[in-house]
Amino acid sequence: MSGITIDHVRKEYDSDSGPIRAVDDVSLDVEDGEFLTIVGPSGSGKSTLLRMIAGLEDITKGEIRIGDTVVNNIAPQNRGVAMVFQNYALYPHMSVRQNMSYGLKLTTDLGSEEISRRVEDTAEMMGIGDLLDKKPNNLSGGQQQRVATGRAIVRQPKVFLFDEPLSNLDAKLRLHMRTELQRIQEELETTSVYVTHDQTEAMTMSDRIVILSDGTIQQVGTPAEVYAEPVNRFVADFIGSPSMNFFDVELAGEALHGEDFEYQIPSELAATVEANSVSDALVLGIRPEHISVESDGEDTITAELDVLEHEGSDNYLYLSKGNTEWTVRVDGNTRFEWGESVEFTLPSEHLHVFDAETGENLVVDEGMTAQTDESSVTV
Ligand code: ADP
Ligand code: MG
Repeated sequence: MSGITIDHVRKEYDSDSGPIRAVDDVSLDVEDGEFLTIVGPSGSGKSTLLRMIAGLEDITKGEIRIGDTVVNNIAPQNRGVAMVFQNYALYPHMSVRQNMSYGLKLTTDLGSEEISRRVEDTAEMMGIGDLLDKKPNNLSGGQQQRVATGRAIVRQPKVFLFDEPLSNLDAKLRLHMRTELQRIQEELETTSVYVTHDQTEAMTMSDRIVILSDGTIQQVGTPAEVYAEPVNRFVADFIGSPSMNFFDVELAGEALHGEDFEYQIPSELAATVEANSVSDALVLGIRPEHISVESDGEDTITAELDVLEHEGSDNYLYLSKGNTEWTVRVDGNTRFEWGESVEFTLPSEHLHVFDAETGENLVVDEGMTAQTDESSVTV
């Protein structure tokens, strides 16, 4: 097994209107045995980055190492990686057994008995032991997904690469396969890089998350870190569902002034914002679950309840005041009436203030920013 080092890697595609920079100066260390997820919107460069690790795309600039070996010029089949794609890419004319053994026959000198044993053990592990003689077309989406994963596992690679492998499954099965993949990865302890556009998937599956936008890394951290201490507005908006509330504000004295509200903040926080901002235009951010409807005499805001959504254990309140809208998550047992006035506070420990110009989070803990480790990550 081995880790992966991505060292100032760039990828440019040629196009009629000049080169497209799909991945721009990405540096990242994936630790040995780690489950790392790369998450970002469509077109952010996730697949390109993964395909460069796999050897399916040339690297325009920079270096990729698997273990101690520079792999830039090593053919895909000699890199010790196995990739699982969204569309499974199974051979339709081959049985499950043949699909799973094909790679081993091609790239190893294992005897047929050893290959059979490995295929059968892996099929057992993936819960597809009774499907070995079927053709892919006779399998459900979930079963095909298991075969594709099994085909990767059976090769005992140094690294697993997953490109949105669960996107074609229905919601319930996706949830199930998520835990299944985690279980298998924990059991095998194979270094894994998992690409998804789904932040929930990233948050629930990974040791660490890399958030990518426009080919550049925005932040690297554990799910808890990127959730609590997003370094910029992009990350704050992308991670968490429903997403963070954002309001255009300006700082006047020790109060944030929005279009329809004013809110007093602690002097320390005001000083930090003042010292770190480059422009007067700020954006206040707070997550729906952090707005407190148990007002206790502090500075409060009052808004009208437009919509109440029951989600079982939670209720979502959609409040408005003038042009300003607030999404608030409260406990499912809390009772509210449509149209009523709701008073709430914004606990200062959960406030994020972003510079409107740079998008940078002005109140993120210095320690957290350092977490993105300048030596290995380019932000
Ligand atoms: P993601 O997987 O995050 O959706 P991709 O890595 O597929 O993003 O694409 C990143 C960018 O590179 C996009 O702008 C996409 O249009 C462009 N791109 C990807 N593959 C090619 C290609 N073969 N030729 C030209 N442009 C490409
Ligand atoms: Mg992709």
